[in-house]
Amino acid sequence: METSQNIGPVVLLGPPGAGKGTQAKRIAEHYGIPQISTGDILRGNVQRGTELGLQAQALMARGELVPDDLVCDMVAWRVRDVDCECGFILDGFPRTARQAGWLDAFFESEIFENSGGGKWCLPIVIRIDVDYNQLVKRLTGRRTCLANGHIYNVYFQPPRIPDICDVDGSPLIIRSDDREEVIRERLQTYDVQTRPVAEYYEQKGRLVPVNGDLEVGEVTGQMFWVIEHRDGNCL
Ligand code: AMP
Repeated sequence: METSQNIGPVVLLGPPGAGKGTQAKRIAEHYGIPQISTGDILRGNVQRGTELGLQAQALMARGELVPDDLVCDMVAWRVRDVDCECGFILDGFPRTARQAGWLDAFFESEIFENSGGGKWCLPIVIRIDVDYNQLVKRLTGRRTCLANGHIYNVYFQPPRIPDICDVDGSPLIIRSDDREEVIRERLQTYDVQTRPVAEYYEQKGRLVPVNGDLEVGEVTGQMFWVIEHRDGNCL
């Protein structure tokens, strides 16, 4: 890992299976900033049986979205942590136009004021575009390590021993929302509720699309380029 570079916030948009989690981890590692995955935080809450987890569990199992207020509070809480000072990657947030509006207002009102100005900038918004059939294959083939969330794909990146994580030997599972019927629901939810988020940023001239059909490393390369050539950058 390199030492932290102040790249400010990065928002990763894209349908389920676009590779947001994989790319977010690579950006996080390269720039030394945290990845904030709202899906991971919610799953953690479900596993621990917290109040938030209990509210989110059934919705997540059906591939529906958790209410905006709950998720926005969760993000507000997380990004105030000290490790977010030089930037962070939002993976899976914002997912509705309302969350996107909330996020802009949040940056403008709180972060700019509290940071003495200049340190933060508005997020870079990158959308990963992937062909629909490819998405379905990525999602149905995805296996996740139970212990630490390492990700494999039975079609594209199989583990050395079937159903066992190469890194820590723990079992690989199919996430409950990676079942085929739920996948269809999640892709539809994306179309209806999250496409407007991209339009929101597009209208503001802040959306940068990258080609997510390319090989993983090439997609990462495009992202580094976007981050390092942003307008009015934080670097
Ligand atoms: P993910 O791991 O990003 O695919 O998220 C898994 C599930 O968590 C989603 O299908 C939603 O039910 C819930 N979720 C994650 N992020 C959000 C968000 N920003 N707003 C609402 N629900 C979310």
